[in-house]
Amino acid sequence: MRTHGPVHTSFDFDTPGKRNGFIDLTHSDHRHAFSAVRVPVGVIQGGAGPTVMLTAGNHGDEYEGQVILHQLMQQLSPDQVQGRLIFLPALNTPAVLDRARVSPLDGGNMNRSFPGATNAGPTKAIAAFVDAHLIPMADAILDFHSGGTTAEYVDCGFLCVGPDAVQNAANLELAEVFGAPFTMVATIDGTGGDFDTAAYNQNTRFLSCELGGMGRFSQASFQTGWAATNRVLTHLGLIDNPSEGLTTRFIDVGAGCSFGTTGHHGLAQLHVSPGDEVRQGDHVGTVFDVHNFGAPPERVLAGQNGVVAVCRRNPLVEPGDHLCMVTREIPVSEMHK
Ligand SMILES: [Zn+2]
Repeated sequence: MRTHGPVHTSFDFDTPGKRNGFIDLTHSDHRHAFSAVRVPVGVIQGGAGPTVMLTAGNHGDEYEGQVILHQLMQQLSPDQVQGRLIFLPALNTPAVLDRARVSPLDGGNMNRSFPGATNAGPTKAIAAFVDAHLIPMADAILDFHSGGTTAEYVDCGFLCVGPDAVQNAANLELAEVFGAPFTMVATIDGTGGDFDTAAYNQNTRFLSCELGGMGRFSQASFQTGWAATNRVLTHLGLIDNPSEGLTTRFIDVGAGCSFGTTGHHGLAQLHVSPGDEVRQGDHVGTVFDVHNFGAPPERVLAGQNGVVAVCRRNPLVEPGDHLCMVTREIPVSEMHK
């Protein structure tokens, strides 16, 4: 039995074979007074090799990764795996069941909850279990995201760069093997409480990704992510399913990006799509006043030259809502220096 605060499991992570089970969270509210909140887990372990942990449902309304994990669990048998695959297809299970980004139990955003805490609500309790018990098991972690209900992303790997050059190079290698059309590059601890940083702090290789968005399932983004995942697992020696990826284009989602942000309450028409290239001053969106029909609309302009990486897909906006994100493309040579 592994216990960490209110989270516990008797799941066998260590024996060869293929199993599924649960990590249980004790949470006492009106609904769960006589229940456990069950976070599903699976393992496929074959011969000697590394351990790779795959996680999805970190945000509940992001689906392509969840399906990729289900498909891997269905398709692979232990005799096809050299090493161990650990799956957490619904990391923030309450959020997944609520079709939401964050947990309905405590409003917790899993990707702002690391390294977690045992006494600060369900979301941080799950994060603390992952941080204390599961990250240490893994040689590498793939964490799957999508744009969620509000936004659509370019299909991309998501790479966080920190102070450790060796670890940066190891994670960069994962991003290049993943071979998505783009790789977003951010700074470790850029958002605070993210899974990427928790893994980085434990010197565990980590790559996240963004596949599609809008709270729907995209078959095209799934296919991109499916092939990319199989390439990484093949590259790490766990399975044998190679394919040719793209030469990924790196884009800066830290200091090198800017947002087209509305100052109005209105209805937004986007004039760009994820992956488009724009110039500073390009007209990227038009916001019409809902209450004052016929009034001159707001023109939202690109703040810089670059690649559109994210677009809002809920047209009803209010002041402060981003319509799109424009990113500086980073030369490959800059990534490798
Ligand atoms: Zn996400």
